[in-house]
Amino acid sequence: MRTNLLTVNEFEAAARIIRVGGLVGIPTETVYGLGANGLNPLAVGRIFQAKGRPQDNPLILHIPESSWLERYCEDIPEAAWRLAKRFWPGPLTMILRRKPIVPDVVTAGLDTVGMRCPAHSVCRAVIQAAEVPVAAPSGNLSGKPSPTTARHMLDDMDGRINAILDGGDCQVGVESTVLSLCQRDMDGKILPRLLRPGAVPLEQLRETL
Ligand code: AMP
Ligand code: MG
Repeated sequence: MRTNLLTVNEFEAAARIIRVGGLVGIPTETVYGLGANGLNPLAVGRIFQAKGRPQDNPLILHIPESSWLERYCEDIPEAAWRLAKRFWPGPLTMILRRKPIVPDVVTAGLDTVGMRCPAHSVCRAVIQAAEVPVAAPSGNLSGKPSPTTARHMLDDMDGRINAILDGGDCQVGVESTVLSLCQRDMDGKILPRLLRPGAVPLEQLRETL
């Protein structure tokens, strides 16, 4: 397989590849991601192959706007909407209850799914054009550092994926903060849990919650 480097003007070509089940490197504000159609189990399976990622490590679904949350998640707490309003688009991943439309391979069989709306405008344009949520881990081979440039991603992924969309250097360079909003106490109140520290500081999450 030849890996094409696409320019931002070719974002619609990147979207088409994703729609039909291919793999595309996409820029986000945190790191380059390895994206596939998050509703297509075969396409998502190819992500794990290309990276050498263990199948039991769940992927994040990327959406272009918070209104898409309801397509893929249920039982969405009010806190999630509040956090989305403050931090999206941006480097916050929220773990929520998934709807059955989300394939098992995305979530490693969990009944929850990680959701994020990236701050990179080209990334959101690709997802809008693809009209599907994009499942994406970082665009490196498993065990290697996460890429923050298209070149760096090409070093790892050349010949393994269909294309990389060159959207310039990633501005943040640190992974998204992962926050679980799935646990409730006996009164039904959400018990937020930080699963991975990242670009959004815990203090700012506390202020909002
Ligand atoms: P990566 O895409 O490589 O940055 O990894 C995504 C991170 O989000 C991993 O550390 C996962 O463990 C975490 N993650 C994704 N989905 C879930 C989920 N449903 N439950 C808990 N953690 C998740
Ligand atoms: Mg990673």
